[in-house]
Amino acid sequence: MPIFDAVDFDDHEQVVFCNDRSSGLRAIIAIHNTNRGPAAGGCRMWPYRSEDDALTDVLRLSRGMTYKAAISKLPFGGGKTVIIGDPRTEKSERLFRALGVFVETLGGRYLVAEDVGTSPADMEWVRRETRHVAGIAEGGCGDPSPATAHGVFHGILAAVERRLGRNTLDGVAVAVQGVGNVGSELCQVLAAAGARLFVADVQTDAVRRVVEAVGATAVEPAAIYGLDVDVFAPCALGAILNDDTIPRLKARVVAGSANNQLAEDRHGAALMRRGILYAPDYVINAGGIIIITHEGPDYSPADAFAHVAGIHDTVHEIFARAEAEGVPTNVAADRIAEERFRHVSVRSAAA
Ligand code: NAD
Repeated sequence: MPIFDAVDFDDHEQVVFCNDRSSGLRAIIAIHNTNRGPAAGGCRMWPYRSEDDALTDVLRLSRGMTYKAAISKLPFGGGKTVIIGDPRTEKSERLFRALGVFVETLGGRYLVAEDVGTSPADMEWVRRETRHVAGIAEGGCGDPSPATAHGVFHGILAAVERRLGRNTLDGVAVAVQGVGNVGSELCQVLAAAGARLFVADVQTDAVRRVVEAVGATAVEPAAIYGLDVDVFAPCALGAILNDDTIPRLKARVVAGSANNQLAEDRHGAALMRRGILYAPDYVINAGGIIIITHEGPDYSPADAFAHVAGIHDTVHEIFARAEAEGVPTNVAADRIAEERFRHVSVRSAAA
């Protein structure tokens, strides 16, 4: 399996294959870029069909983390871990402690946290072997979902200000796709701000809970794209902005937490042509990594959430750049991020 010539290899600094026979750990840690600081990124556990699939995922995800940290001006680079295994049946203390040993060998070049398939409790096991772990429950910031939802809320607000010329979400109609950890939390803050909510999820229980909690209107999953609303907030899956769905959108703003919403980069231009303002996903879903910079014995949720609210200004900066250069917002975001992580001297990254 070639690495340097892999399609998704993008000048990554280091790729580490971790094997521990006694615990059954098979994992890959990818460090994309450390110009701004230690590579930070979650640990995903997934029953990948092949090593190639796992490698592709970790190369892409670690690169995405570099952009996410840089656009938010965080003193982090981009990294990621994937564990090849089924999180429902193959988790154990030994497995995560074995991962912790590998993270420790990197000497602080990589900071691990939870991600899809792992939890703050798993990270507690990792912590027994290394201090280079974030997002733990005790003494840390724990579940990142509330912070992520808070950031998405501020991203939606900025986009509504820009496209609808309104400075409040009172009466604004928002369609939320996926009401899991982030989506349900987002519904709470949107409802508190007076938004009118429409929600869809493949899990009917999740929909029922949100309908009961905030008085949202439930819609069928397939109908969420074509609703006559102001904002479409994807909080479920990636690649949902594509040739099939974009023509159906009536919303004038797309802003949600889901990672990799654009099926391909060119779909950013497709949204622009339709007059739909897209708040780039990795910018507005950065709340979880932003609060990690506040972790420590003096962790203050108020300070951390105030920092997350800065996503509002970052999103405005991207919109202004996109307009000035006549490019889609995803392109403008990438340009700004690249300026912030390329050619940065290692110790002056926070600037
Ligand atoms: P989650 O698994 O808790 O929630 C996702 C929800 O989407 C689930 O309720 C699921 O049933 C629903 N769903 C799946 N397919 C659907 C479909 N076709 N139509 C409608 N609903 C569907 O995940 P989460 O933690 O809430 O994360 C949501 C998204 O935000 C993911 O893309 C995730 O990668 C991204 N994200 C999350 C965080 C975080 O802090 N949790 C941070 C950054 C990005």
